[in-house]
Order: sequence, then C-alpha cells, then structure tokens
Amino acid sequence: MRQSMRRRQIKWTIIVFVLLAGVLYIGRIPYDQILRDEVRTRHTQLMKTADILTREKLRDLIQDVHRLAQKTAITEYLEAPTIVRRSIMQRALIDTSNAYARYARIRYIDRTGMEQLRVNYAPHGAYSVASTALQDKSQSDYVREGMALEPGEMYLSPMALNVEHGRLERPLKPTLRLVRRVANSQGEPRGMLVLNYSADQLLARLRALFPELDRPMLLNRDGYWLLSPNADDAWGWLLERPHNTLKEQRPALWEKIQASPNGMAEIDGDLYSYARLNIGEFDAPTPVPRTRERQAGDIATNIGTDTDTDTDTDTDTGTDSATAAGPAAASAGASVQPVSTPDPWIMLVQTRYAQWHVGAAYLRPWFRAFVVGLFVMAAMLVYYVIAAREQRRLAREAERRQLAEFKDLYDNAPIGYVTLAASGMITNVNHALLASLGRQRDELLSGYYLTDLVSDESRPVLNNLLYSLGEGEHMQCRLDMRCNNGDLLTVLCSVSSLLSAYNTLMVGRCSVQDISQQVALEQSLERLAYSDPLTRLANRRYFDELASREIQRLQREGGTLTALALDIDHFKAVNDSCGHDAGDEVLKSLADICHSRLRGSDILARFGGEEFTILLPGANAEEGRVKAETLRRTLANAPVFPADGDAIHYTVSIGVAVLEWPDEAQLPALLKQADRALYQAKQSGRNRVCVAE
Ligand code: GH3
Ligand code: MG
Ligand code: MG
Repeated sequence: MRQSMRRRQIKWTIIVFVLLAGVLYIGRIPYDQILRDEVRTRHTQLMKTADILTREKLRDLIQDVHRLAQKTAITEYLEAPTIVRRSIMQRALIDTSNAYARYARIRYIDRTGMEQLRVNYAPHGAYSVASTALQDKSQSDYVREGMALEPGEMYLSPMALNVEHGRLERPLKPTLRLVRRVANSQGEPRGMLVLNYSADQLLARLRALFPELDRPMLLNRDGYWLLSPNADDAWGWLLERPHNTLKEQRPALWEKIQASPNGMAEIDGDLYSYARLNIGEFDAPTPVPRTRERQAGDIATNIGTDTDTDTDTDTDTGTDSATAAGPAAASAGASVQPVSTPDPWIMLVQTRYAQWHVGAAYLRPWFRAFVVGLFVMAAMLVYYVIAAREQRRLAREAERRQLAEFKDLYDNAPIGYVTLAASGMITNVNHALLASLGRQRDELLSGYYLTDLVSDESRPVLNNLLYSLGEGEHMQCRLDMRCNNGDLLTVLCSVSSLLSAYNTLMVGRCSVQDISQQVALEQSLERLAYSDPLTRLANRRYFDELASREIQRLQREGGTLTALALDIDHFKAVNDSCGHDAGDEVLKSLADICHSRLRGSDILARFGGEEFTILLPGANAEEGRVKAETLRRTLANAPVFPADGDAIHYTVSIGVAVLEWPDEAQLPALLKQADRALYQAKQSGRNRVCVAE
C-alpha cells in the first residue's frame, strides 16, 4: 500500500515537473520574444543613427570637395595654369588639408591622369610633394571613373585600403576617394580633384555608436568586411583572404541580405539586422537639415556619439577668402550635387545569443533559486496531496468495510431486525426475521406496517411500543407475530429510535427475537413449579392457589366445599413386591383415573407419597361420599399392568369432610378433618370411605 503510494508520488512528481518545465519553457518563448524585440528596436534605432551619421559625414566630405573646387585659387589655375597660379593653388590645397585634417591626400590630376599637385596631410602640417614624386594615375580606377564625369559631378570610390607604390600602406589605412571633375570658366573639362578621405574616423564612430552587446559590421557589395569586430576579417580581398566574406561564412544570412535591402534574421540564435547605407543618395532629406544645424552652431546633435569636431569647420580655411561663404557653401548647404558611387555599403549588426540573453531574468540567480523553490514546492505539494488522498481513500475503505460489516450484521444477525419509517412503515428487514415469519423481503418492503404483522391481541401492546418509539424511549415487550402460514410466533420486540433536532421520529429500530422456545420453557417451568412431575397433578402450592380461587367463587356464588383425602392401602407392600417403578405406574394410573372421573371445576392434587387430596366445590357431604365411593370402587377394579410383571391390584381408603361456609382460613382445618376421616377408614379395615362427623 505504502509502496504504491510512493510510486504514485514519484510518478506525479515527474508529471508535475515535466508540466512545470514545459510551462517555464513555453513561458520563455514570449519572454525571449520581448528580449528579441528590444534588441531589434535598438538595432533599428542605431542603424538609423548610423545611416544618418554616415550620410552626414559623406555630405560633409562632398561639400568639402565642392567648396574646394570653387576656390578662386583653383578656378584661376584651371583658366591658365601658370607657375604662380600653381603655387597659389598648392597653397590652397595645403591650407585645406590642414584645416580639415581628414584628407590624407589632396590632389589635382590632369586630363592625362598625371598628378599635377599633391598635398599629403601630416599631423605636424600638410606638405606638397615634389614634382618629381608625382605619379601617373591614369590606370587607377578612380581616375578612369573621374574622366567619365561631367564637370561638377562627383565620384565616390569604394572604400579600400590605401596603396602606396603598389603596396598596402601600413598600418592599414581605410580610404575613401572623392573625385570631382573640374572645368574652366568656359565649361571645358579639365582634370579632377581627388581627395583621399581617411575613413578610420568614420569607421571608429560607427563602431562606437553601438553598445558592447552589439557587433556592428560594414560590408561592401561583395560581402567583404570593411568593419568587423574581428579585425582579421576585414579587407579580405586586399589581404589575400578571399574567403573572408559573409557570403562564405554565413551563406544563409548573405542570401537574406541579397534578397531585401533591409531586414532582420536569426541564425543559430544570433540576431542580425541589416540595412543598405545608400551613400549615393544625398538628395533625401536628413532628419536635421544641415543648414539649420550649421546656423545653430550645434555639434550634430542628432548623432549622439559624433565627436568629430571637424564637421563644424564650415569656415573656409583656404587663403581665398572670397569663397568663404560663397556660392559653394550655399549650394552645399541647400543641396549636394549628385554623386556616382559604385558601392553601396551594407550595415550589419550582430547580437550574439549569449549577449541578448545576458539580462534575461531566467539567468539571474534569484530566478534560478525561485525555480528551484518552485520545483521543491511542487514536489512537496504532490507529496502532501497524494498522502492526503491516500489517507482519505483508506478512511473511505475502512468506512466501506465497516458499513459492509454493519450491513452483514444487520442482514445476517441471529435475531430479527426491522427498521421503521416515522410513519411506522417497514423500510428494512433482515433475513432472520424473514425466515422466522416465512415471508419475502420484497413483500414486506412494499408498504407493510409493523402492525400488519402482529396478532390482534398483540396490537395494543405494539401501539404502546410504537408510542414509546416516538418518545425516544427504549422499551421491550412480547408480541405474537403472524407467520405467513398463519402460525403465531411469540417474539421479544425491543425498540430504539433516531429523533430529529425537533424531537420527531426519523428512524425506528426494532430487534425482534423469537422467544417461542423460551416461552415453552417458561411454561414447562411453570408446570413444574405448580405440578407433581410424576402424575402431573397439581402440587400443594398450586392446590392452595386453585382452592383459594374456588373458595372465593363459592363465597360469591354460595355452595359447600367437600374435601376428599385419598391414600393407597399398603402401598409400601406394592413397592416392596413389584418394585418402585411399578409403584410409580400405580400412582400415575390412579391420577389418570381420578382425573377422568372428576369435573373440570374439581381440584385434584398430590401432596406427596401416595396421598391425594380432592376438592369438590359445590358438593355436599353426601355428594362427596358418593364421589369417593365411586372412585374407591373404580380404582379397586382397575389393576395396573406394569411392563414386566403381573397385574397389580390395589385399593384406596378415602376420608370425606365438608365445609358448609367455605372460607380460605378454614381450608387447613377442612383438610385435617378429611385426614382424620381417612385415618378412620384405615382403622376400620381399609378399602372404604369414611365421612367426618
Ligand atoms: P397403609 O395402608 O397404612 O397406608 O400402609 P402403607 O404401606 O401404604 O403406608 P406407608 O405410609 O407406611 O407407606 C407408604 C409407602 O409409599 C412408603 C413409600 O415407599 C411409598 N411411596 C411413597 N411415595 C412413593 C412414590 O412416589 N413412588 C413409589 N413407588 N412409592 C412411594
Ligand atoms: Mg398407604
Ligand atoms: Mg400413606
């Protein structure tokens, strides 16, 4: 029993644990979704900021170039490239380089692709490269692209690492070349201005924009990293690491990026957001108009991380003050000339699984402790619930067993039971009573009342009993119940009752005990108490009782009372010669004969030995004498035939006495008188009747 409870406890603990784990697991899904959404929202905002930052930065760069192109020092040189104008232009380029401090090179390349002027930036001051060090760049991509531009148009090169004399400059220098075609005042195309923008600052600012949890990346159209959390991944096509592409390392992600310009992805639990930075589209309005921003003197407030103060250098740093706030600045502020760029950048942010979960409640110690507590409580709950259920089940079983025992006790008790409704109608009855009455259960339960089952004589007694039942009293009495075959069965009926709160009878319980044997025994005991066992005649006690009753009647009705005292003659001799048993036979024969010769009202008793007394109520002396004589003669002629022996002839002597006025007090005297008459009969020879004087 206990073992099965243990098994159930273990089984249910496992079930509850699995359910609980399931709930926690399922509950984690929406929670994770919230975390995901938080990350994605952050991604979206930061990417938007990155987009603005980049475009603002590029806009600045483009404005720089346009402004530079419109400097008098340059336009005049383009009109007529004299040595003086060349040196003025050189000065202007050096000033510009120093002022902006973000262009590694500023060059003027002529229509043949030959560098005419080249200013290198250095922290201690920009300087112009000697004419002998100028190079032929006609084979460079950007020069070819520049040649294809109309005057005033700009080309933005793909971001790449700077190469010097055919070798990558170390440390690596991410570079963006801005190429602007220039023309003379007649609009005839001349060469081009080429500014090498050092993109480190831009890349560093993009990186700084994102919190540590996020991994910002910038990719070119081929999927090579321009900016990567792993520095080694970047610039794969230049560092002879052709496999360092997103396409190779995350093909699924790359496919998604190719499919749509903006989007999000979740791969291996890592969250990605990506967007094209459309660096060629500068006509699209930015959230904060550049002109106004400039007027307010703000420091690019919409880009929180923008610390690049050089963007605020809007005053012309060139020697040509005429261009300081000239048309270039105005046109740059209002709108920027279209730029042709071959290479949109792809901004990609990765937040690793571990990172976007780092703040999850379920990773916190308190939550884990809570979960452990939850499981412990669940296990305890299961333990107690099952133990309590087991206890209840055992109690129910015990109750059922007890009920079955009670039912068995009721149904199969050795005495009868009958249950009554408040109306007295039988509602239940047991086998013993049914067997005693020879009746069927269904019959008695079909609307029988207990009164229907008792004899007419017993009905008042039963009514009395039922009344006491209603009073809540315990009572018992004898009843005669009618059996199915018409016999009467004497029973002892005991009752007890169940009363309601209002003291009204709800249920009556009756035990019915068959006492017919007891009654018979009582009757036989009574007989024994009142009669002589050998002759079954009344004994002295019963004689006195009967005599008293007759005397009272005679006193009421009048009449004399005659007593006969009868004694067998020489009975001792009978015993001696024929045996004591034969003597007994003689005594019984005498009793039977006397009984048959007397009237119903006459009283015949054996007082002991072989002496008998007869009372003849209403008889006078003569009638007594005649009766005595008749008896004497009859007995003398009625020998007894014992089973083993000869016939026994015997005679009796009888004394007769009369009481003229019967009185109970006179009875002993009357009997004494009869005895004396008997004595007289004996004395005078026996076998005769003597009447007292
Ligand atoms: P009598 O004519 O003078 O009456 O002589 P008797 O022998 O009858 O007188 P007695 O009183 O001396 O004897 C009575 C005898 O009756 C004695 C006893 O053995 C016998 N007796 C008394 N009671 C019983 C009895 O119940 N059964 C038998 N068989 N004998 C009994
Ligand atoms: Mg005798
Ligand atoms: Mg005698």
